[in-house]
Amino acid sequence: MENKWIAIAIDGPSGAGKSTIAKLLAKELAYVYVDTGAMYRTVGYAALSAGIDPTDAESVVAMLPSIRVDLAYDNGVQKVLLNGDDVSDRIRTPEASMAASAVSALPPVRQFLFHLQQDMAATHNVIMDGRDIGTVVLPHAQVKIFLSASAEDRARRRYDELVAKGMDVAFEDVLADMKQRDYNDSHRAAAPLKAADDAVMVDTTGNTLEQSVELMKNLIKERLG
Ligand code: C5P
Repeated sequence: MENKWIAIAIDGPSGAGKSTIAKLLAKELAYVYVDTGAMYRTVGYAALSAGIDPTDAESVVAMLPSIRVDLAYDNGVQKVLLNGDDVSDRIRTPEASMAASAVSALPPVRQFLFHLQQDMAATHNVIMDGRDIGTVVLPHAQVKIFLSASAEDRARRRYDELVAKGMDVAFEDVLADMKQRDYNDSHRAAAPLKAADDAVMVDTTGNTLEQSVELMKNLIKERLG
């Protein structure tokens, strides 16, 4: 079936700048930005809120039928709703990051969110970011980019973000969490983090945000003709 919608898939490890860059690009192109990490964070957060250990696969899977995850857009800004409640801010803690990483290794959780992600791409022009967008969720995306940067660079950005939000964190802990999540994400059996064969590789180490956005914009323009 001919798909009239355009999809741009951006994958890569945590902190490579995917969401910041994708948000800016989506605004400029007037595409819908879909942050799939926020969906996994919401499932992780739901488990924590229910007193469920996110590594307890059986309990997490048993919880799925009782939760609803929705995306909503407020002036083009994505909000993620858990059972109708806006949890967009609450899913940004280090605990929710680790919980997301744990629940995302479970195939039923991936299946649960897969449909929501595909529905978005079937009804809008999207820039979707995550770990498996170019490989699993949108294998037919017209543009696929795999964005990376050194672990230190990525941890530094994440640390600056958390500090800017007033959180009391240590850089060493952020770096250790980042490395642990990289390991979890790339070694899990279900949809591991890996670049699609036809993805363009972009390394943002040492780039300013403006440089990365410019580079990606040119890449997308070139690919879309
Ligand atoms: O991108 P973000 O850091 O918000 O993602 C949180 C976690 O969700 C990641 O560490 C990863 O384990 C998981 N994730 C995933 N597949 C995606 C997006 C995120 O497994 N498409």
